[in-house]
Amino acid sequence: MPKFVFDFTEGNKDLKDLLGGKGANLAEMTNLGLPVPPGFTITTEACRHYLEHGTLPEGLTDEIGAHLSALESAMGKRLGDPGDPLLVSVRSGAKFSMPGMMETVLNVGLNDDSVQGLAARSGDERFAWDSYRRLIQMFGKTVLGVEGDPFEDAIDDAKRAKGVEDDSDLDAADLRALVATFKDVVRERAGRGFPTDPREQLDLAIRAVFDSWNAPRAVLYRRQERIPVDLGTAVNVCSMVFGNMGLDSGTGVAFTRDPASGEQGIYGDYLQNAQGEDVVAGIRNTVPLAELERIDAASYHRLLEIMETLENHYRDMCDIEFTIERGKLWMLQTRVGKRTAAAAFRIACQLLDQGLIDLDEATERVTGDQLAQLMFPRFDEAALKDARRLTKGMNASPGAAVGVAVFSSGAAEEAAARGEDVILVRRETNPDDLPGMVAAKGVLTSRGGKTSHAAVVARGMGKTCVCGAEELEVDVRERRLTAPGGVVVREGDVISIDGSSGEVYLGEVPVEDSPVVRYFEGRLGDAEGGDLITAVDRIMKHADSRARLKVRANADNAEDSARARRFGATGIGLCRTEHMFLGDRRQLVEKLILAETEEERTAALDALEPLQRADFEEILAAMDGLPVTIRLIDPPLHEFLPDLTDLSVRVALAGDGADPQDRRLLEAVRRLHEQNPMLGLRGVRLGLVIPGLFAMQVRAIAEAAAQRRKAGGDPRPEIMIPLVGAVQELEAIREEARGVLAQVARSTGEDVPALIGTMIELPRSALTAGQIAEAAEFFSFGTNDLTQTTWGFSRDDVEASFFSRYLELGIFGASPFETLDVEGVGRLVRIAVEEGRRTRPDLHLGICGEHGGDPDSVHFCHEVGLDYVSCSPFRIPVARLEAGRAAILAGRG
Ligand code: ADP
Ligand code: MG
Ligand code: MG
Repeated sequence: MPKFVFDFTEGNKDLKDLLGGKGANLAEMTNLGLPVPPGFTITTEACRHYLEHGTLPEGLTDEIGAHLSALESAMGKRLGDPGDPLLVSVRSGAKFSMPGMMETVLNVGLNDDSVQGLAARSGDERFAWDSYRRLIQMFGKTVLGVEGDPFEDAIDDAKRAKGVEDDSDLDAADLRALVATFKDVVRERAGRGFPTDPREQLDLAIRAVFDSWNAPRAVLYRRQERIPVDLGTAVNVCSMVFGNMGLDSGTGVAFTRDPASGEQGIYGDYLQNAQGEDVVAGIRNTVPLAELERIDAASYHRLLEIMETLENHYRDMCDIEFTIERGKLWMLQTRVGKRTAAAAFRIACQLLDQGLIDLDEATERVTGDQLAQLMFPRFDEAALKDARRLTKGMNASPGAAVGVAVFSSGAAEEAAARGEDVILVRRETNPDDLPGMVAAKGVLTSRGGKTSHAAVVARGMGKTCVCGAEELEVDVRERRLTAPGGVVVREGDVISIDGSSGEVYLGEVPVEDSPVVRYFEGRLGDAEGGDLITAVDRIMKHADSRARLKVRANADNAEDSARARRFGATGIGLCRTEHMFLGDRRQLVEKLILAETEEERTAALDALEPLQRADFEEILAAMDGLPVTIRLIDPPLHEFLPDLTDLSVRVALAGDGADPQDRRLLEAVRRLHEQNPMLGLRGVRLGLVIPGLFAMQVRAIAEAAAQRRKAGGDPRPEIMIPLVGAVQELEAIREEARGVLAQVARSTGEDVPALIGTMIELPRSALTAGQIAEAAEFFSFGTNDLTQTTWGFSRDDVEASFFSRYLELGIFGASPFETLDVEGVGRLVRIAVEEGRRTRPDLHLGICGEHGGDPDSVHFCHEVGLDYVSCSPFRIPVARLEAGRAAILAGRG
């Protein structure tokens, strides 16, 4: 039979799966010899059994009994003993901290008899009755499901009757009367009396903690934070210590460093004569922790000592809860503390300098997401101090956005067309709002969480979003919102939203570039550095030194290429050529499509070629000495033609007088029109169907490279064929390309080698990768299309219409377009890597979907053995950091 109960002396901090975070850390502190009130932890395994079967596992009740007896002998008191009662708290504690999951029940063991014993022993009748009324209140709420209001009302009535303001002004007699009222409230509302048997109190409280795992707010929180649903919670039974025994007692919380900046100092709050939740509940005003020195110097210095012990032991910033009972300090909780992105980098380097951790660990302590947060533009901090804050919602998609408030998608489009910056404000968004979201600088909603439509779509677009700002009343019909305090914002008024913090401000708050971006750009003034930049610099250099994966950029022009290079790109993994067919060049593409004779077609291609060559020369120059993977044209050609409806209308209106050119165009548009362009005539299929098109592109690449070589450069082009599904497709194109390369080498006298490879972006290409590798020198996984074709999702259609529902239902934890679906799409990648390398051991492998800049996906790419990831220039530092972290973490095994 497994062991379901662990004494605090039996556990340790590495047993979080079994004992939950709180229990594991209470055990750790106990074993460090710190003053923790004795107790024991009931495992998550017991909880999982209970949740699955609806009954406690066999033997658990006895095991709890045995541990309770041991606790009683250690303390020299019995639970609820009428003469001198032992009291305990019953506290939930899952593997991951889940704020608001369930309130702890304090003072278990009190009843009409033991309250007398507590009063006599403590010599403080008021304290005893205060503890008792707290028990009934907390037990009523969290165990018996009674609403909180009737309890609060009764307290208010008592204070009013007495003419006092503060809870602490109620005396023993008042509190005794409250206990009677509370018991009535419980009997009325819970349909049963408050249980007087201490062991029954304990057992009911334990079950209530188990049940709280499935409480709606816990379920919601897990979904938002992507915490697995089946972990269960542990239960900690901890002997009570009392901060409400008078002015020489109290309770507090503290951080060993500032969680916002990382600075060392005294950070925390303290409240005299108070118990548990009083500090955070904000019932009375706390004092800054530093004042404890004046109140109780001995406890204060002991606390600082303990904080240092904890930091040195955990080798990280910790947060703690403590209580002082008549001058004796007790530790009630600790854990590695949450921190801001900037603090994470600073603290990692501080600990490094203190010699507590090494560079590998410092690098593990920060994440790509944190780095990304530091790179978003943000509001000017000095200006924020004077800004008029309206409310705070959920920080759904980071960044800082300023614009005029508009209340409909249409209004957003119109205003944006006039060149105005707009913030789209809605109660919640739906797929019809998509055009408005595209047009807006940012999105603000009053409803919905981090998986709401607004949040999912905004993140997908990289657009700033604050959602679920519930204090705002959004009136779409009247085109206005009302903020707390009656502030009204009408359509056209300027607001500022901070997607990193969730704050909403009235008026324009100035936005500034992140200094971290200026650092990466090499634009940071000497005086601007500071410890944050130093920390980022040290960690990035180390990550680079550890990374096995190279990081390339997705870039289509010289400017992006240059920026990517400054950000540390080691080449281009995806240079799209389609934008090179837009603008003025569209006419040339029209000519190509309309060409009826060989001569017409050749003329059109000949006109396009020099333009492409010039583009390639610039990019090859910007990336001199580094590989540049150029993808031949991918999208369907009709994308370069006028819109079918527009053109039909124009021709119809002109009647007989219609321009013959327009008529021919219309015919071509009709001919090329596709029901599902994503699955139509595109990619390699174009190259096979339109003679000369790919050859022209290859010639432009080869001639550009020859030109660069002549100019003394070191061009390294790679030619990439999109949407290949069968090796035969690739063979035909490769044949043609090799011919062109040889021709150019002859005519220019410069033989620039160019690898020829393919994208793997269809399931068939992954599944036949062994064959395809015979004709390909490299593979680049196009995971955007591979995700679309594996799931059968058309991204533009599904993301806006039903992804938020899928996330809610837990069908996936993150959109497969944001984080690579390892089980499905990842399996195809794995197969292609294995079978491709079996055919061609030196096959070069990369990924060029947007996943290349996503932290989790980068780790997958490392693990599966790719050579590089490629992502948008702005994500390169994130990918570099994660490539380093992936190597370090994999090395730890
Ligand atoms: P949470 O997970 O919400 O922090 P806790 O289990 O830590 O809940 O308990 C809530 C409050 O009660 C905290 O302030 C904690 O310090 C206090 N508390 C818990 N157990 C005891 C105890 N045995 N003695 C005194 N205070 C306690
Ligand atoms: Mg706590
Ligand atoms: Mg593609």
